Amino acid sequence: MLILISDAFDTGLPDKLVDFGEVTDDKSRLADAEIVLVRSKTKCDRDYIDNAKNLKLIIRGGVGIDNIDKEYAESKGIIVRNTPKASSIAVAELAFAHMISVPNRIVEGHTSMAEGKWIKKELKRTELYGKTLCLIGLGNISKEVARRATAFGMEVFAYDKYVESSDLVEMKKTLKDAVEYADYISMHVPLTPDTEGMINEDIIKGFQKVPVIINTGRGACINADDMKTALESGKVRAYATDVYPTDPPDDDCPLRNVKNVFMTPHIGASSVENLLRIGSEAHSIIDELIKDGKI
Ligand code: NAD
Repeated sequence: MLILISDAFDTGLPDKLVDFGEVTDDKSRLADAEIVLVRSKTKCDRDYIDNAKNLKLIIRGGVGIDNIDKEYAESKGIIVRNTPKASSIAVAELAFAHMISVPNRIVEGHTSMAEGKWIKKELKRTELYGKTLCLIGLGNISKEVARRATAFGMEVFAYDKYVESSDLVEMKKTLKDAVEYADYISMHVPLTPDTEGMINEDIIKGFQKVPVIINTGRGACINADDMKTALESGKVRAYATDVYPTDPPDDDCPLRNVKNVFMTPHIGASSVENLLRIGSEAHSIIDELIKDGKI
């Protein structure tokens, strides 16, 4: 069995997967591969799947499978799996890092010092304690953010189209209700036709406060032009994001070089610990499918 590791995984993973066969990172061998491991970089579209003549299993190391044409793969008898829980802590910690960094003005503080300035008086900070946090989507990652925010003394509530109640946080019935009085909004939904552009001019005009918006979900869940306008007009205090409509964002992405936009290069899942967890989940998936005679 040939296993193709197509994207960046833990460097120790090939040694673990030799339990099941030959392991390669040579993408030109796609046609012979029976198992392909991808993260978000490899796009498993129709052409890719058509070229993978021997493929039985695609493992997406991570959560979002929007880079895989799952329906088409399954129509060809290919099993598609992801590692849904491995990344929760890594992404939640990054969302929280942005949430701490923005009001504490860490980036401006560092940049000004590196430029030889001393702007102690100008850099007024604000605290998370006592502030409201609206979580959009209450799944695995979002729940980890909720736990951390509660520990910081924030008042946390959430909107999730498919979750009515929760032991962790108060649920709001509509997106408009959820964002209305939020000081912070953290996005944790998958990209679907329903969530694409869900933060847009219409939703932003309902804000009664001037929130900081943190996005570690998917870039296209916010309308970038509307976000730019909201930042420039002072309806949104800051936008901290790890995700973009494309990886990397195009040069003409409206949010590049806008004041109060803080960016990380899609590193939510890239903690050392998470890459190890993803590797062991991938190993377990292959092991289980072989034992069940499915591959
Ligand atoms: P999850 O499936 O556990 O949670 C997603 C939640 O969104 C679910 O509870 C679901 O009911 C809710 N939801 C779906 N459609 C909705 C809608 N229209 N309105 C409101 N809620 C809706 O997933 P998760 O593990 O928490 O991950 C969330 C997202 O984070 C992923 O889909 C992925 O896009 C993104 N992600 C990003 C990184 C990164 O590196 N930045 C890493 C992993 C995941």
